[in-house]
Amino acid sequence: MSVREEFDEWAADGRDKGMEERHWQTAKYVLARMPVEAGDTVLDLGCGSGYAGRALRDTNDAGRVYGLDGSPEMARNAQGYTDDSDVSYLVSDFDHLPFKDDGIDHIFTMEAFYYANDPHETLREVRRILRPGGTFFCAVNYYEENVHSHEWQDSISVEMTRWSAEEYREAFRDAGLHIAEQDNVPDTDIEIPAEEAFPTDGWDTRKEMVERYREFGTLLTVGVSP
Ligand code: SAH
Repeated sequence: MSVREEFDEWAADGRDKGMEERHWQTAKYVLARMPVEAGDTVLDLGCGSGYAGRALRDTNDAGRVYGLDGSPEMARNAQGYTDDSDVSYLVSDFDHLPFKDDGIDHIFTMEAFYYANDPHETLREVRRILRPGGTFFCAVNYYEENVHSHEWQDSISVEMTRWSAEEYREAFRDAGLHIAEQDNVPDTDIEIPAEEAFPTDGWDTRKEMVERYREFGTLLTVGVSP
């Protein structure tokens, strides 16, 4: 199945909002760390419901917000959640980002980058469209160290790239981005039941659940364009 087929289906059955709810638990901390200033142009790669761009308009007074998604249904839903004319959602693939050189101040992406057909090419595109000093905030829950995420590939037809934290840093550098920081953003909202409740439907042990949400959480790699 193509990105379009897979995610059009997700959008049609409401999973755009379902993901927003789940991802917001760590995305909000990532967004709060972005150095977006009033009037900046920002881009959300693989925007899903498009919540991130709308949040940056509300909290940081971003001037122009774009959400890009390979699924027309996702982009259509996202556009339907706002009537702000400075927030636009467009359909495109990560292989080619339809923006001019140095045209974007800051880029965000949450739980989407690893679906890129050629992640190295996507990073080169990110580098090309970011203005000097512009940042790329790349957040993923599917990565090598997070062993609890490895099985996700079994339930999705689009091939996923599973890099380690180090591989993210290397790939960013190869594309010409400096690494500003990299860390794990814990999910502190998810409720972890007391020891006696385990095993639960999803988890064999409390220790594993703590590791997944509180220790691994979301891997955030921040690149800066020179
Ligand atoms: N960022 C959102 C959505 C994550 S789901 C959130 O946090 O909830 C991943 C999104 O990336 C989907 O909407 C999917 O359509 C999009 N996507 C996946 N691969 C893509 C690609 N190669 N090009 C463009 N968009 C892609």
